[in-house]
Amino acid sequence: MGRPHALLLPYPAQGHVLPLMELAHRKVSHGFTITFINTHFNHGRLLSAMPTFCSNTNPSINFISIPDGLQPGDDRNHVVNLCKALMTIMAIHLEELIIKMQKHKQPEHDKPTWLIADESMAWAFNVAKKTGLRTVAFWPASATTFTSMRNIPKLIQDGIIHEHDGSAKTPGLIFQLSPGLPTMNVDHLLWNCLLDSESIKELFHCINTNIESIKNAEFVVCNSFYKAEKPVFDYLNSSKILPIGPLLSGQRFGKPAGLFWSADTTCKAWLDEQDVSSVIYVAFGSWATVDERQFQELALGLELTGRPFLWVVRPDFTGKAIIDLLKGLEDRIGGRGMVVQWSPQQEVLAHPAVSCFMSHCGWNSTMEGVSNGVPFLCWPYFGDQHLNQTYICDVWKTGLKMIPDENNMITKEQIRDKVDELLGDGEMKKRALAMKEIATKGIEKGGSSFENFNTFISAMQV
Ligand code: UDP
Repeated sequence: MGRPHALLLPYPAQGHVLPLMELAHRKVSHGFTITFINTHFNHGRLLSAMPTFCSNTNPSINFISIPDGLQPGDDRNHVVNLCKALMTIMAIHLEELIIKMQKHKQPEHDKPTWLIADESMAWAFNVAKKTGLRTVAFWPASATTFTSMRNIPKLIQDGIIHEHDGSAKTPGLIFQLSPGLPTMNVDHLLWNCLLDSESIKELFHCINTNIESIKNAEFVVCNSFYKAEKPVFDYLNSSKILPIGPLLSGQRFGKPAGLFWSADTTCKAWLDEQDVSSVIYVAFGSWATVDERQFQELALGLELTGRPFLWVVRPDFTGKAIIDLLKGLEDRIGGRGMVVQWSPQQEVLAHPAVSCFMSHCGWNSTMEGVSNGVPFLCWPYFGDQHLNQTYICDVWKTGLKMIPDENNMITKEQIRDKVDELLGDGEMKKRALAMKEIATKGIEKGGSSFENFNTFISAMQV
């Protein structure tokens, strides 16, 4: 028998493509052929961000693309419109693609037999069923967030959310799905992160549909590790949900990591010049934005810390031209700070000069900080980021919360004070290093993620 062939389908966002790409690399080293299916839009970004030394280095991963169903100029950050287009139009293209691959005259073993799709693309499992592929769901975030979605019927039954649109019955209500599980705020449930009630309703509908479709998947693999969320995995008590993380692809030199933007690697040379454990790394992922006032305050806060910092400022991070906003800052701080548009984050977090991570608490960033023993300053924006903050600050106790004041601002004084508090707390760093050890052991031979991964591979070979 030849190499088994799996199709991998990420949700089209940076935080979903990156961990799935690592999964692709791991599967290739276990003898699989992978076809990685991006949307045309992200395929273009991926290829243009890929360093030349990465091109075609891995013939076992075929990168292909299909339309996402939106028009060229459409806003792809509009979650509801995007989800609707994916479910209706991309689904047709996926089916056509699979049928074409199945008809194509090639040796039997080259035909795809599996589809591994992001949970947020669970409509694809219906396509797989129609075309005879076996299926695995991939969940790139915490098992706790996954559990909150799976428990929508319970949330309705317990009177926490409305049945018709998922909105909070009592805004701000703090609840626990079960004793021992982390507390959640009803306002921070994934679908409640949107601003208007119509969008909340539509997203709730999409999530509900996905959760229904996921029942077609043979199992779910997630980018977490058992000890990070032990009570939740025990609560799920299912051999169908396998934590195999952390999935970190950034350190596979010469292999595509799945980045949409090319990383400014000059910051590595700058980090080399800094003292050990001195640099504040500041990054808010691929999505989060701040208003101009908060941007200015953050810049002043970093200045006020008196410490070196590496700050990722994406061109769309705030409304106004970044260049104007940063005017003056560079003159005042000289070489003490560095601003880049996109960093090689996983390498940055592994650098000995980094002392802490000011983060929006996206789950990938959370796993990456944890894997490198870096304590956090948590600045969540929406979606699962608040719940991830709860893990970091209240469960693992490896970070501090940044708390907006009555004007919804995180002030420069708070930034300075929290940095001082975090870096002055040796116990925090010790706990962060202990978490790193647990995460690392989990993916080493004999560790729980390692074993789960083997179970997953074996199940796909029968
Ligand atoms: N990232 C990066 N360079 C940056 C900022 C972020 O490579 O300058 C990567 C980061 O390592 C992480 C991903 O982008 O893997 C962001 O995912 P996350 O879940 O943290 O946040 P999201 O972008 O989904 O909000």
